[in-house]
Amino acid sequence: MKGPFVIAVDGPAASGKGTIATGLGKAFDLPVLDTGLLYRAVGVLTERSGEPLDNAEACAAAAAMLTADQLDDPRLRTREAGELASRVAVHPHVRAALMEFQRIFADQDGGAILDGRDIGTVIWPQAPAKLYVTASPEVRAARRWKQLKAQGEPVALEDVLADIHIRDARDGGRDTAPMRPAPDAVLLDTSEMTIEQAADAARRIVEAARARWEAS
Ligand code: C5P
Repeated sequence: MKGPFVIAVDGPAASGKGTIATGLGKAFDLPVLDTGLLYRAVGVLTERSGEPLDNAEACAAAAAMLTADQLDDPRLRTREAGELASRVAVHPHVRAALMEFQRIFADQDGGAILDGRDIGTVIWPQAPAKLYVTASPEVRAARRWKQLKAQGEPVALEDVLADIHIRDARDGGRDTAPMRPAPDAVLLDTSEMTIEQAADAARRIVEAARARWEAS
């Protein structure tokens, strides 16, 4: 029996995947889970508990206690929370503790969209639609810089670019579920695209995947 219509949207920080996932949610009337928020929440909760972030057990305990209502906190969107997230995300027990939450969300009858780093490779490898959204580090840094400024968190562009390089290296270099495109993901480089163009391209890719899924 074919499973739900899950759309996996993976890619590096500030590639545009969040905006694309939200746009796809509207276009296909599907619920969206920003899985980065889970790791951000675990990072922030562990930090608040006073435990060091390299204490894998403490991080996994925070992950095991996480509830959906903790994901609305605007503090999870800060630059610091992103950094904390990528440090706790290296621990295999944290990833394992967050897996069930993500799989339950994906396994909805009507389908679902999840954006993250390992959705198409680990969380839901059977997803009928997979996108890997990228952009050059410079373009991503400029986007994240604008976003942080709009959030009232002014920061130098070169610092944001340095963050992006550190996060790419950590997310792509970790042993467990490293960030990389699934072999069957469609690559979407948004470096030269406006938000509208990227959303449009993503919609067309998913429409084709949906037609194949319906016919299967
Ligand atoms: O996507 P976002 O920037 O919110 O993710 C924050 C961090 O959480 C990433 O840099 C990555 O280390 C981690 N993450 C992950 N797997 C996911 C989503 C996020 O490892 N599915």
